[in-house]
Amino acid sequence: MPNTLPCPTVDPDRLRRAAARVVTRVGANRFLVEGRHEPHYLVDLDEPASCRCRDAQVRGGPCLHELAARLHVGDGDLVLILGRLLADADREIRTMRARRQRTA
Ligand SMILES: [Zn+2]
Repeated sequence: MPNTLPCPTVDPDRLRRAAARVVTRVGANRFLVEGRHEPHYLVDLDEPASCRCRDAQVRGGPCLHELAARLHVGDGDLVLILGRLLADADREIRTMRARRQRTA
């Protein structure tokens, strides 16, 4: 199992979008991740993890594809963060719904 990412480096919006990508394992630590500009990107989670997308090359941090691959292998920290993001969204939706019902 590859090392997990330190949580402060994870962008919540990028993680949410990563969760919706199709991931296919093509090697021990190699994955094809559905892309937006390309049909897919090859992610290698062997340290240091790598992806050939523009975001990974230019920005340098963990790109959406790397996050998707890490979610695919069940990276505990990312799964926990994603669960909390979903719980926050669920709470927000319930609050908005209750507000609308009060004003209707
Ligand atoms: Zn990438």
